[in-house]
Amino acid sequence: MPFSSLGLIPPLLQAVSDLSYATPTAIQSAAIPAILSGADLLGLAQTGSGKTAAFALPLLQRLQGKMGARPRVVQALVLVPTRELAVQVGDALKRYAQHLPQQPRIATVFGGVSINPQMMALRGGTDIVVATPGRLLDLIDHNALSIGRAAMLVLDEADRLLDLGFADEINRILSLLPPQRQNLFFSATFPAAVETLANGILSQPVRLEV
Ligand code: AMP
Repeated sequence: MPFSSLGLIPPLLQAVSDLSYATPTAIQSAAIPAILSGADLLGLAQTGSGKTAAFALPLLQRLQGKMGARPRVVQALVLVPTRELAVQVGDALKRYAQHLPQQPRIATVFGGVSINPQMMALRGGTDIVVATPGRLLDLIDHNALSIGRAAMLVLDEADRLLDLGFADEINRILSLLPPQRQNLFFSATFPAAVETLANGILSQPVRLEV
């Protein structure tokens, strides 16, 4: 199945072509049409499966046309367990967004470094935030960011988020999000604690295992 049959708009297909992705991976073929349709998604997928593009491409497409407000308000929140993954996902989003007519602002924030440059970078708002949970809450507590209108949530590597002890932070973040939203949940493993978290977040999800 070619990328062009998944429902993606030409600027995103151009970005995929720039990156020399020839055909979609299994999770991309299944997840992209489901996410574009507005469904919640539970993806059991390892690193290397192409899961980043599987959520990033349709996320960018669904945000087109929804980024008019000034100052910009967060439309999509991507929660990740580590700084390394935050940088990787933020960079991937920026590459995929390259040709979009409406350029999203994409902020990447993580702990372990000074908060001030991140607060400065958030002035004027952002459309998409890729964040580790603790630093996201610090920034919200500093009024640098609000997620009250974020209609898309991605949890990437949910099992590692829980392994690293972020359950309380995640629950607080969930309480700050609008109840009406699309949720995309990815995990490499699915122990009971991850299942409980998924059940509390997802509404009638499309379930994919690759
Ligand atoms: P991920 O599983 O999201 O960490 O992606 C693993 C690697 O595969 C990344 O370097 C991506 O750029 C690359 N990749 C993702 N989708 C494709 C594809 N359809 N064809 C070739 N490479 C891909």
